[in-house]
Amino acid sequence: MNIPLLDLKAQYQSIRSEVLSAIETVCDEQGFILGPKVTEMERSVAAYVGTAHAVGVASGSDALLLSLMAVGVGAGDEVITVPFTFFATAGAISRLNAKPVFVDICGDTFNMDPSLIEQAITPRTKAIIPVHLFGQCAEMESITATAKRHGVAVIEDACQAIGAKRHGVMAGAMGETGCFSFFPSKNLGGFGDGGMVTTRDQALHDAMAMLRVHGSHVRYLHERIGINSRLDALQAAVLQVKLKYLDRWTQGRRRNAAQYERLFKEAGLNDRVTLPTTEKGNEHVFNQFTVRAPQRDALRAYLKDKGIGTEIYYPVPMHVQTCYRELGYRKGSFPVSEQTAEEVLSLPIYAELTGQHLSYVAEMIAAFYRSR
Ligand SMILES: *Cc1c(COP(=O)(O)O)cnc(C)c1O
Repeated sequence: MNIPLLDLKAQYQSIRSEVLSAIETVCDEQGFILGPKVTEMERSVAAYVGTAHAVGVASGSDALLLSLMAVGVGAGDEVITVPFTFFATAGAISRLNAKPVFVDICGDTFNMDPSLIEQAITPRTKAIIPVHLFGQCAEMESITATAKRHGVAVIEDACQAIGAKRHGVMAGAMGETGCFSFFPSKNLGGFGDGGMVTTRDQALHDAMAMLRVHGSHVRYLHERIGINSRLDALQAAVLQVKLKYLDRWTQGRRRNAAQYERLFKEAGLNDRVTLPTTEKGNEHVFNQFTVRAPQRDALRAYLKDKGIGTEIYYPVPMHVQTCYRELGYRKGSFPVSEQTAEEVLSLPIYAELTGQHLSYVAEMIAAFYRSR
């Protein structure tokens, strides 16, 4: 059996004609930059997430960058985030000549450990970026409470978490801004790069809407130095179609996660492989189904040989990346992140997987450990 980590073709087949006709409309109109399609998608995402505003941008990375610019992060400022994330989270901070200050994660949820934030705050701290990793919200109540006490902004990296909720509130509606990515492998994926920033704050909305067009409100008059970062009308048209199906696809991911849980238990894998835990109050959207596995690299090679695609998200934490040598961290600075990077393995979880696929994955993992 051949089971890739993600199969976008199956999803595309199910909505092909609808998507092609949406693309055709944009082509017929020849309006590619901003305009009604982008505005419509911004309104849809704002309504979905439950914020008053949303700004369509070119990528999730730019959603983070524009958020930081809008809340006033600049050279010499510090922004607190986690080392166990995709590079973009830390990269956006550094692009503004600000300094990423890392705090370790919780071993069970893979998300920011809120008990470590307080001691990382200095007079230069301007913002905190919790990451809702793999599709589960970070502990936002403690994070926003600490941020409020110190007068710093919270920017949610919700790039993997569209549709996730914490105590009934959507990811992206809890911080000053929420950053989303429409990279094809995300739960709501476009046909290329794209992103969105949500916010409840009119002033932040206005700032980001201006900053994404070179800091210009009135054409050729520049109030701030911005960037060029817009969601393409073509992407907006595709995403508008796909948004209708998002909750159904999320249900499919949850169903698959529940089935893995049952299958792993039946196969006696519970004392070998640690399955992802969903914290009380969280509704997980499983952008990834990430387990901790002993002999991880050998398991990965074995599964590859059996036709099963997996990935390591993420093998090298930010604080030990070559480009961050100057920050002065070393191996040992963030033990939970470091151990996690050595143990994690993400398994196929997309909605179109069948019961047979899931059983095969569980069987092959069980076979691997039996052979050891
Ligand atoms: C995907 C992702 C991003 C960046 O999104 P792009 O659209 O690829 O720029 C940022 N943070 C996290 C956690 C992500 O998973």
